[in-house]
Amino acid sequence: MKNVITIDGPSGSGKGTVSRIIAARLGYDYLDTGALYRAAAWKVRAKPVDPDDEVAVKNLLDETEISFKNGKVFVDGVDVTKEIRTAEIGELSSKVSAMPAVRQRLFRIQRGLCLKGSVVIEGRDTGTAIFPESENKFYLDASIEERARRRFAELKAKDPETTIEKTLDDIRRRDNRDSSRKASPLMKTEEMSFIDSTNMTIEEVAERIIKSLKA
Ligand code: C5P
Repeated sequence: MKNVITIDGPSGSGKGTVSRIIAARLGYDYLDTGALYRAAAWKVRAKPVDPDDEVAVKNLLDETEISFKNGKVFVDGVDVTKEIRTAEIGELSSKVSAMPAVRQRLFRIQRGLCLKGSVVIEGRDTGTAIFPESENKFYLDASIEERARRRFAELKAKDPETTIEKTLDDIRRRDNRDSSRKASPLMKTEEMSFIDSTNMTIEEVAERIIKSLKA
């Protein structure tokens, strides 16, 4: 059995930071699957193609190379790690990620890394669709107010116009879309260990996960 730790959950649940800490501590690779969807959205916006036209989006992504190395994401060899962290790309990625063709296109990259083993992979469907055979699946959540507060703290430096109310609205809309889409929706299953991080520090969450890992 490969050592694959899957961590799923909604925006602002803390899964990104926690996954990076765990990967560094265990000497595992780390894959932020949300960054791949953001990279796809970045290309859709850069080209641009109509984000509601699934065929056009699929054709564009078929000729686009997306990769993730050492915590950085590349589109056709260009490092877009910083540029994809905006509210606009977050919204667009949530839209295009509901398209089955987009999910299929990004499946191979994600599954390929898991098959190599020793990886912490985080996102919305990593324990249900990408590596369901993992014996170490986690689901992280926090209250919507706390998640919006965390997201706002990250966004406000880049986007001084944004407000906590707007961030809360964005999160609510993305939660709904991610959980209600047909293709690999965000879902908590019985096999996943559930952690509510609302009143926990990132360090406490990482500790809890590391302690509960099955060999
Ligand atoms: O986690 P992050 O906010 O960076 O993800 C951006 C978007 O990508 C999410 O809102 C979600 O719609 C989508 N996503 C997904 N499946 C994943 C990871 C992210 O649909 N495994």
